[in-house]
Amino acid sequence: MVKIHSEVIEFLKGPKKLFINGEWKESIEGNTFESINPATGEVLGHVCEAGVQDVDLAVEAAYQEFEFGEWSSISSYERSRLMDKLADLMERDIEILAQIDTLDNGKSINEMLSADLPNAIENLRYFAGWTNKHYGETIPISETYFNYTRHEPVGVVGQIIPWNFPIMMAIWKIAPALATGCTIVLKPAEQTPLSAIYLGKLVEEAGFPKGVINIINGFGKTAGEALVKHPKVNKIAFTGSTPVGQRIMKEAANTLKRVTLELGGKSPNIILPDADLDKAIPGVFSGIMVNQGQVCCAGSRVFIPRHMYEDVTKKLVEYAENVTLGNGLEESTTMGPLVSKRQQEIVISYINKGIEEGAKLLTGGKPLESGFYVTPAVFAEVEDGMAIAKEEIFGPVVVAMPYDSLEEVIERANSTVYGLAAGIWTENLRNAHKVTNLLKAGTVWVNCYNLTNAAAPFGGFKESGFGREMGSYALSNYTEVKSVWINL
Ligand code: NAD
Repeated sequence: MVKIHSEVIEFLKGPKKLFINGEWKESIEGNTFESINPATGEVLGHVCEAGVQDVDLAVEAAYQEFEFGEWSSISSYERSRLMDKLADLMERDIEILAQIDTLDNGKSINEMLSADLPNAIENLRYFAGWTNKHYGETIPISETYFNYTRHEPVGVVGQIIPWNFPIMMAIWKIAPALATGCTIVLKPAEQTPLSAIYLGKLVEEAGFPKGVINIINGFGKTAGEALVKHPKVNKIAFTGSTPVGQRIMKEAANTLKRVTLELGGKSPNIILPDADLDKAIPGVFSGIMVNQGQVCCAGSRVFIPRHMYEDVTKKLVEYAENVTLGNGLEESTTMGPLVSKRQQEIVISYINKGIEEGAKLLTGGKPLESGFYVTPAVFAEVEDGMAIAKEEIFGPVVVAMPYDSLEEVIERANSTVYGLAAGIWTENLRNAHKVTNLLKAGTVWVNCYNLTNAAAPFGGFKESGFGREMGSYALSNYTEVKSVWINL
């Protein structure tokens, strides 16, 4: 078991406050909520719960800083320097941040150190490099007139994130908003509030002007909705479930807020007959199992050529039975607990539904005696119409389905309301491109899965949302285009 840092023990003491206008504040109504360690079910810490008045304070701080503060007038180089400084501090405290997310979310410490945190830090540095590069165009009109465009920050942005990659999601949101000169009110998920609070300490240490980044923990129905309704919030960037995304979009219409939505998925992962199975089977398995299956783009529908079906499902069962389930702080752990008791209940209820609807559970799908664990499950004999094949489970459940032809599998892969991602496993270049073009998904991985990079856009088609995180595309989420005419 990894030894918990003394800084982490110290950090967990006492109620964690809200970070508003560069100061640490208790909530006005004085409410707090508990954060639970999913590996043990024990209380990790207490967190001040933002109510409507706290949201108002945070938005006002962001508004004042955006309209009248230093942030709008400092040079793009200085913005970049502050972002790099924050990245340096995250690098310095990488082990502390990793332990906080492992304790709060349950995920393995190895994944935190090798994936979530390097990815988050790279994102900050990538967007730090964009502060002086997102410029407009000059457009020649005639001898008399010319036009040029400016990319101006959209203003105060409300950012609402989920619990599955707490620190990484926070950085994916704040980095492009900072690069473009916006000010921010970030609301982390109530299940995993802690790493964002530690991030607030680093923001303070880095020396950002007060009010540029405000971090308010609280619940969706109260703090989240107040942020979405607030007239001084110009834009909401949301990552979470499709039903909440729909609700946010309706509510945002009242003030015509800009909205970008990164929502759920039920992504197909397709093994083609010419796949190299030694690569495809482990790739498909980790495509669904990483982060205990709590990944929006998880390859949760696995399509296998009928003549390979039995061999492939047998191998998937072997992989599932070789997973080392345990506390994320154990270095040998390859799969931790689910984030909460509620999430464990949701996943178990899907497993029961799958069995009731006639699918065959080949292995797993069981809780452990303590902690919010579910053993990795593999289902065979699944029909497209079953709940486990249609709905997002957000847990470690492989849904394996045979198919007979390329046309059939493309049609079935696309017959979902979602369109976040898809995977193809093939050694044939023509098939790789042909199938990629036909899949309705925001990301297609060929002979790989779940890769993301600061420079590559990520986002959904259909009910998986709109707008793109990362890459140059993310900058347009946080800017308005101003068209300027000059009469010479
Ligand atoms: P959720 O939608 O319940 O909650 C996400 C966030 O929204 C939380 O911070 C929550 O407090 C807040 N929220 C809830 N109700 C709200 C409301 N009425 N108004 C404003 N805010 C509100 O989702 P979840 O269960 O935390 O996360 C899992 C979901 O997130 C899955 O559907 C998953 O696919 C999706 N997700 C998508 C991506 C992506 O990039 N597309 C990434 C991670 C997770």
